[in-house]
Parts: sequence; structure tokens; C-alpha cells
Amino acid sequence: MTDRPIYLDNNSTTFPAPEAVEAVLPLFGDIYGNPSSTHSFGQKVRHQIELARENVAKLLNCKPGEVVFNSGATEGNNTAIYAALDGMPDRKHIITSGVEHASVLEVIRYLDEAGYRITELSVDRMGHIDLDELKNEISGDTALVSLMWANNETGVINPINAAGDLAKQFGALFHVDAVQAAGKLKIDLKEELAVDYLTISGHKFHGLKGAGALFVREKAPFLPLLRGGHHEDGRRAGTENVMGIVAMGAAAALSNREMAGHVEHMKKMRDRLQSGLLAKCDDVIINGDQQDRLPNTLNAGFKYIDGEALLMMMDAANIAVSAGSACKSGSMEPSHVLMAMNVPLSAIHGSVRFCVSRYTEPEEIDAAVEQTAAIVKRLREMSPFGHAEKRDEGLSTAELEKHKAYFATT
Ligand code: PMP
Repeated sequence: MTDRPIYLDNNSTTFPAPEAVEAVLPLFGDIYGNPSSTHSFGQKVRHQIELARENVAKLLNCKPGEVVFNSGATEGNNTAIYAALDGMPDRKHIITSGVEHASVLEVIRYLDEAGYRITELSVDRMGHIDLDELKNEISGDTALVSLMWANNETGVINPINAAGDLAKQFGALFHVDAVQAAGKLKIDLKEELAVDYLTISGHKFHGLKGAGALFVREKAPFLPLLRGGHHEDGRRAGTENVMGIVAMGAAAALSNREMAGHVEHMKKMRDRLQSGLLAKCDDVIINGDQQDRLPNTLNAGFKYIDGEALLMMMDAANIAVSAGSACKSGSMEPSHVLMAMNVPLSAIHGSVRFCVSRYTEPEEIDAAVEQTAAIVKRLREMSPFGHAEKRDEGLSTAELEKHKAYFATT
């Protein structure tokens, strides 16, 4: 057990940066007007929002007018999908991938009932989509291609440039969920990048929860999801979440100034964690490609143990990690991302996601390695599958074959 809690679940949410908190403090005092009011109380707040918009636009390298503030990426993803389909009324085909976040995948799956044909691109063992599959599936009937920039469970990065070029070639709109990219990868929405809509969320890069931004390319069709107000230039009704927006602006400004250093630090911490775990634990696999990967993410599969049990014992030892997607925690439902990567169930159940941040310290990594190794050892001693001679008992023949083939390649 460590003295200080160690937080290694930064793809779920992040520590609010002191700069973001400081930026918000005046909003608890004199700066409290409604940003839509034309008097000075309102205009002071409006000014704060517009400053935040400039900082977010800089983070994305787009025009401030292309940034629409909202409640977060779930809203942003829903808005982008419906806006794109509304703008392409004659097309009835949507392409996404099987490893998207629920706020994309479940929305698109539901559109099946509204008469759309849905293609879910597959991913390979490493979590990569296949551009040839996209090439084969896309047609003049495709209204929308929706892909994430980087996966929240494995950190695997998609070939956004190439996918966007294909979408453009066929006249389809292109939406990118860049929630996990913000603050960790360079996002450059220059004209040549064929992205029409892109979503980010403040709390994933050291802002506050409940505020996000949707990039809408100047010429892309748009339909507000929330109507009944002139806010955000008529693109998102409702009084703005000023604190969330200002905090996100400050977090974006921090990234604009220091992202290269943050990335280098995260990578160093993640690599220290990965090499420590591989040195101290037997039978560990890394899920997902290790090159095309976010600098902060490590998805490790500990063979022959249950990830939920590991997570709970780590929590008792004061270390926060997650098993699969955070949204799935508490249920034993296997991760849809690892399933799509064809990871055998016997390995999915022992998979744990560790995500560092710019604030993670080397001592925390070392303590996490020690604790994880000790807990893995204890769990294996307790588990019937932890004993070499019993490891394959209880698996069906098909699962056993998949299990053997998988581990032979890792
Ligand atoms: N997309 C991805 C890839 C995410 O990781 C998340 C958060 N888990 C979301 C979308 C949803 O973001 P929000 O919490 O802002 O609704």
C-alpha cells in the first residue's frame, strides 16, 4: 500500500491543472454575468469565453469560429453524426470501426433502424484498421466516415490523414473523435486535412468535466442538436458552462505552450512502467501496437488472472487503474475493443489499462510496478489457472486453440 494515492487512469479523466483552476476562480467572484447579456457583467464573461475559444482553436490549429462549445465529447459526437447525416440526405451508408467509443458506436448502430446501412471496419491483432477495407467499403452512397484519432483503451492511433483523403475522394463527410488525442498528439486541422468534424473534451486534458468542443469545418453542413437559443452562433443552445469552458481554455493554453515536454514526460513514465512490469511479471502481453500508440497508455494483459480482481486489489493498495473501458467497470462484460482485436477471452479478463499523465512521477511508477507485481503473484497463487499444470483446464477446445495461437504470437 502506498502512502499517497497513485492515479494511473488518465484516459478516464485527468487531474484539473492548477492553471485551469486558477483561471476559473474569478468566476466565483465578480465575473458572473450571463455571457449573452449585452451589459458589462455579461460582456466580461463573454470575453473569457472568447479567450478560451482562441486557445482551443490554437490547440487544434483551426479558426476560432469553427469551435462550438458544448457539454463534452458525448454531445459532440452525437451532434457531429446527426449534422453530417442531415447534410447528406441522399446518402444512406455510414462507416465507422468496431473499436469506437460508445458515444459513436451505439449512436451509429441505432441509425440502422432509421434505414442506414452500417459498416463497422474490423481491426487487426494490433488494433489497426485496414485502409484497404475502408477503400473497398466506401462508395458514393457513404454519407459519413467516423473514426477515432486514438483508442481510449489501447492508445492505438488511426491513420487519420489517409482515411480523410479516402472520405474526401468519395464526397463523404469525415468525423473524428479526438478525445484521447488532445494534449497528447499534435492536432493540426489545416485545410488539407479532410476532417469536417472533430470532438474533444476538457476533462481528458486537465480541464473540468462537463465541457467540450466540437470543431465544425467552415463549409461543413451543420444542424444543432440542442435548439432554442442563439448561443454559440446558433449552433448549440443553452447558457454556456462558463467554468468548464474557461478551464478547458486554460488547459489548452498550457498544452499550446508545453505539449512537447508533456509528451516526452508521459512517454518516459509509460515506458518505465512497461519495462518495469515486463521485468517483474511473467506472462504479460501488451495489447495493441506499441509504435502507433499514445504516449501515455499501456494496456497490459496478465495471463491467468482476472483483471477486475487485480483492479480491486490495486485500489485497496491505493493505486487507480482500469480494466478495459471505465464505463464497463463493475460488469464482467469483456472489452469490445479487445474482442474486436480478437484477443482471446482468457487474456481479455486479465487486461488492465494504465494511463499516466504529465503529473505522474517516477516514484509513483516504481511503486505501481512493485505493487502490481506483488498482487499479480498473489492472484496467481489463488487462481486455479495460476498453476501451470492447470492453466488450460476449463477452456473449451476452440478457446484453447485461440488462446494458444494468440500467446504463440505475443
Ligand atoms: N470518446 C472517447 C474516445 C472517450 O474516451 C470518451 C470518454 N471516455 C468520450 C468520447 C466521451 O467523452 P465525455 O466524457 O466528454 O462525454
